[in-house]
Amino acid sequence: MPGLDEFEIIARYFTAHEGNDVLLGIGDDAAVLDVREPIVVAVDTLVGGVHFPPDLPAHSIGYRALAVNLSDLAAMGANPRWATLALTLPEADEDWLQAFASGFFELAERHAVGLVGGDTTRGPLTISVQVIGTTTGGRYLTRGGGAVGDDVYVTGTLGDSAAALPLLARQSAPTAGEAELVERFRYPTPRVAAGLALASIATAAIDVSDGLVADLGHLCRQSGCGALIDIEHLPLSAALRSVCSVQRAEDFALGGGDDYELCFTARPEHAADVKAALARSDTRLTRIGQLVAGDGVVCCRGGQPVPVAVSGYMHF
Ligand code: ADP
Ligand code: MG
Repeated sequence: MPGLDEFEIIARYFTAHEGNDVLLGIGDDAAVLDVREPIVVAVDTLVGGVHFPPDLPAHSIGYRALAVNLSDLAAMGANPRWATLALTLPEADEDWLQAFASGFFELAERHAVGLVGGDTTRGPLTISVQVIGTTTGGRYLTRGGGAVGDDVYVTGTLGDSAAALPLLARQSAPTAGEAELVERFRYPTPRVAAGLALASIATAAIDVSDGLVADLGHLCRQSGCGALIDIEHLPLSAALRSVCSVQRAEDFALGGGDDYELCFTARPEHAADVKAALARSDTRLTRIGQLVAGDGVVCCRGGQPVPVAVSGYMHF
């Protein structure tokens, strides 16, 4: 790389954020972590031009790269502890690196996540983050624990990020609502506290990265049942409602990706516990339906099934 070589990049931007329980951190062939309980591991890759426009601000790219991974740990009810970062860069642009690192560590520090290793190479902009979390008392959530009769819930609001996509490249001044949607795309909120609070209450969980219908569909398949959801109960933000019709907002909420909210299930008798857990973690909660016998996700309006043509994002 012109300018900084890879060791200078690592030393200047990515060291000294290693966190706790690290026996050996950055600088050797691998990191050594001191773990006494079951751990949860996830990795996600963001490719410039595929997962985000390459001209997205670097601060947001750094933040998002970690956020989408923390969202996976949240869906498992795990407590994020460490991350590794494999960075492929077209060039060593110091302003870009500075902003990227500051976005990454802003979120890392909020969740006390240490960066303990990685890899730095040259090539088309690609960011892989691996995260490692711990479990409390060995408890974790899966997609497969739901059963017929469980309530289906989501955190936060749905569809905002998908509605932001066409706005990202726009030059004209955004309205307040548009600016809020763009912010939701740039800085998704991984529902870590909610996931942890739900670890002993929910029966199944998944994070909504590819669209509600697609992701709830995965949960249903792995739980061996279907779901009925009520379109009129979908949580739509005021910002989303300010930029499009209700109909279009519902489509974004059902099919749009990049929300990074949690969709989870719980027994109806635990409804009060669910409510209390989400209130403790200061997270908006909406019951959108229930698990039923059968398979697939059926969307209803006024109690009647309605066809919806949505499918999650597929790479291949
Ligand atoms: P090796 O050649 O043995 O794979 P590297 O030269 O790739 O080692 O990396 C040197 C050290 O720097 C390793 O400890 C590695 O984990 C760390 N590292 C490399 N790139 C990054 C990065 N982007 N962020 C954090 N740590 C990194
Ligand atoms: Mg290496």
